[in-house]
Amino acid sequence: MSDAAPSAGRDGQDAPLHDRLHRPLHDLRLSVIEACNFRCPYCMPAGEVPDDYGFDAATRLSFDEIETLVRAFTRLGMRKLRLTGGEPLLRRDLPALVARLSRVDGIEDIALTTNGVLLPRHATALRQAGLGRVTISLDALDPALFHAMSGGRGEVADVLAGIEAARAAGFPVIKLNCVVQRGVNEHQVLPLVERFRDSGMVLRFIEYMDVGTCNHWRREGVVPSAELRDLIHARWPLRPLDPRYRGEVADRYGFADGRGEIGFVSSVTSPFCGDCHRARVSADGRLYTCLFAGDGSDLRPALARGESALAGQVASIWRERGDRYSEIRGQAAGSRRHVEMFLVGG
Ligand code: SF4
Repeated sequence: MSDAAPSAGRDGQDAPLHDRLHRPLHDLRLSVIEACNFRCPYCMPAGEVPDDYGFDAATRLSFDEIETLVRAFTRLGMRKLRLTGGEPLLRRDLPALVARLSRVDGIEDIALTTNGVLLPRHATALRQAGLGRVTISLDALDPALFHAMSGGRGEVADVLAGIEAARAAGFPVIKLNCVVQRGVNEHQVLPLVERFRDSGMVLRFIEYMDVGTCNHWRREGVVPSAELRDLIHARWPLRPLDPRYRGEVADRYGFADGRGEIGFVSSVTSPFCGDCHRARVSADGRLYTCLFAGDGSDLRPALARGESALAGQVASIWRERGDRYSEIRGQAAGSRRHVEMFLVGG
């Protein structure tokens, strides 16, 4: 592995950096903390993950290390940064980190994925620090069901207050993510659409996935996006919209009456690995080249040697990347131990 310092979007041999399927490294999903104040069964089941999990700050990258890491990734062509967790708003002084990262040359967009309950406290400071977009998880409107789907930790009223806080803070783009599970919350789909279709926010329905090792995923629990699309279309006619950019994960649809947009993320029934240009780094500095990757690569030794050394290591890993798990799901080649979603934030 060479320590040659790759230049922007290039791999140290000055060739554009691509993986083995000719996909660039464009997006980085960076976990800033492993801890979460929810225990959603499809991600971090209460019975499998202890309450105090992930609160040990010693294992986390410091703000200095995160900034060096982000600078190294921008050298390789990364332009979109998404801050995740666990629950990223549990990380102390997050607005200060956002302010530092928003000054990194090359970054075009900083977004955050959150369960929303701490947004009333932080939304304005994050927006003023340079955060561009927020994505808020909202799996149900029914208070009892929402509480159950948060592992008995969250109240839907707090998330709705978080959504209003994001709107009041002036975020131009607010997305709402709902993971749909058969027999659990598919009956919440139409009420969610009715509530948000005219709000200017984008509701996205995500197919339930076999992430991690502890959500006991079964294919029968998946509600195909096509089924949801037909259900919604029957009530509010939809028309397909073009993707905004290569590699956008959601299939976009507009309401024929012009009153908003929704999206479908269909990793199980309509995989999108061909355009996947997302890298993921966990809060303790491990690089995962796929949401369904196994062990990941420890970046800390190279990080300790500085930005160039790290860029060199990441470039070498990315060049060898051939992940396309969702396309081979269920085939022998696809069966492996997956990293926990709460370590890489989806
Ligand atoms: S399964 Fe892996 S390679 Fe495919 S889209 Fe998801 S993260 Fe990318």
